[in-house]
Amino acid sequence: MPDIIQLLPDSVANQIAAGEVIQRPASVVKELVENAIDAGATEIKVHIKDAGRTLIQIIDNGCGMSVTDARMAFERHATSKIRSVNDIFAIRTMGFRGEALASIAAIADVEMRTKQHDEEVGTFIHISGSKVIAQEPVSCANGTNFMIKNLFFNVPARRKFLKPNTTELKHIISEMQRVALANPGISFSLYNNQTPIYELPASNKRLRIVAIFGKSINPSLIPVDTATSLVKVSGFIGQPKQARKTFGEQFFFVNNRYMKHPFFHKAVMQAYEKILPPDTIPSYFIYFDVDPAEIDVNIHPTKTEIKFENEAAIWQILQASVREALGKFNIVPSIDFDQAGSVEIPMPLKDFADVKIPEIKVDPTYNPFVQKTPGRNYSPVNHASRPSVDRNLEHWQKLYDDTANSNPVSQASFFPEPVQSEPASREDSFAGKNFIQFKNKYILTPVKSGLMVIDQKRAHERILFERFMQVLDNQEIASQQQLFPETFDLNASDATLLVSILDDLKALGFDIREFGHNTFIINGTPGMLSAGSPREIIESLLEEFKNSSGDLKERAREKVAVSLAKASAINYGQLLKPDEISELIDSLFACQTPNFSPTGKKVLSIMPLDDFERMLK
Ligand code: ADP
Ligand code: MG
Repeated sequence: MPDIIQLLPDSVANQIAAGEVIQRPASVVKELVENAIDAGATEIKVHIKDAGRTLIQIIDNGCGMSVTDARMAFERHATSKIRSVNDIFAIRTMGFRGEALASIAAIADVEMRTKQHDEEVGTFIHISGSKVIAQEPVSCANGTNFMIKNLFFNVPARRKFLKPNTTELKHIISEMQRVALANPGISFSLYNNQTPIYELPASNKRLRIVAIFGKSINPSLIPVDTATSLVKVSGFIGQPKQARKTFGEQFFFVNNRYMKHPFFHKAVMQAYEKILPPDTIPSYFIYFDVDPAEIDVNIHPTKTEIKFENEAAIWQILQASVREALGKFNIVPSIDFDQAGSVEIPMPLKDFADVKIPEIKVDPTYNPFVQKTPGRNYSPVNHASRPSVDRNLEHWQKLYDDTANSNPVSQASFFPEPVQSEPASREDSFAGKNFIQFKNKYILTPVKSGLMVIDQKRAHERILFERFMQVLDNQEIASQQQLFPETFDLNASDATLLVSILDDLKALGFDIREFGHNTFIINGTPGMLSAGSPREIIESLLEEFKNSSGDLKERAREKVAVSLAKASAINYGQLLKPDEISELIDSLFACQTPNFSPTGKKVLSIMPLDDFERMLK
């Protein structure tokens, strides 16, 4: 029998190895951008054509390579980043396997121009399918410029399995997002067929997140910051309200490297427990800094799955950090209102065996937010029908006495609930607590830790917004017919805008019809709005809508709700009666996100007691 085992030629071995590292154009982008980062670049430009099928060009201003290194770089296991196995445990660079360039050169046509900063001339190398086609001196800029053409030209099977351009482009964008978020101090740009997708100047983490995901994310970012000897956890998490039903804004980084970590994801999700709308995932951008010896980045060829030495401990720290951040920003309501006299719960000191665990009965129809006496509404809001506000009550209920159900309420006029059961008495609610309206703009009320200041307009916007969203989600239409239908004209662009949001307005209870050329007729308005001319509300709604920042059709309904809330909320300068204030505060704290207005402005703030003491020193 003849011997049959043969060594594979390098080119074939490289092609096979390439399969592990380079699955698609996005992998090339990732590897080359990481190399540029390792080379100390402060500016990295990526140009692609046809989602990377025809061209991927990466230009960096990093250290460049010497003539010999330029040639060596394409050899398998050629790396400048480690010398011995032990170095792996102290790795701070993105690469170290020395595989990427060899792999890419095996399955594409590669041109590289590179020059070190102190050199006069640079080096040009052309390699195609692992064959060196040319190497010569070239005059070029400092740094390195890679052009990868015809990816997978010699691996038809791979080329065939590439997805449509839109999909491949999405992968590239997502790689760019990861690497740009991991390195906010480096400037990045990405162009597809000359069209800019990202132009990100060097900045900090927060600005980088905003530059990538849009201004609207900014107000919802809550900083996370915990330093322990084992790990430093920093970055931002999103407000529960902003959580989406789809993945897309969840990022973990370790030592400036993006990583996937399903187990740590659970830690974050647990920290958000009970405060997320159902089936949603909060945004997070969480950066871990650990001693490189703590992690093993070597377990995966693309280095995205990372093993931690002290995984359980870091899990705990992560969860606590997220909890703390949520608590600090009062997302998990944690304000303790001052009560006139605290309630002592007597504890039986003997017969422990007989102590029964108290049963907690939750009355789902319990509503502490209705008042005993009928009062005039302070706002153009007349809640003929009103969605339930019990989402957040669990937390806020704790603030009140447990005397629910003791006083049946005969009439409830402010935000009446469509429930038949006995709502709680007014004493359970904010009434009886101290507050004053200040400058017809703010409401001041003492809380345990100091003095809480509430912005009346923003508070009302928040209340209305959540209600409108709920109406939109539940499709509960509560329209009130106008006695005298109103007609009005709009200019062409406002008319187009109005037509485009007409369906959402209908869902909110507006009965508006187009009545000839740019003329509309309002037959009915949401039951929730009673005062104010419907035409004026529509006009200011359109104004708000035009001015509201942000995007896209998917958010259109939210924008309608925001705009309507802003257009119909009580304004500054409006004097409020005590029961109206009380109602406002109660309704605010029944909201899911009481701390922020629908456009992300602060609704309230607490001036700490210490500040008063300091002020009077
Ligand atoms: P690794 O990054 O794992 O070391 P690569 O195959 O990606 O392996 O790169 C091989 C070597 O080529 C690197 O170690 C580095 O010395 C050099 N190199 C690659 N890209 C660049 C670049 N953009 N600037 C300077 N040197 C580079
Ligand atoms: Mg590399």
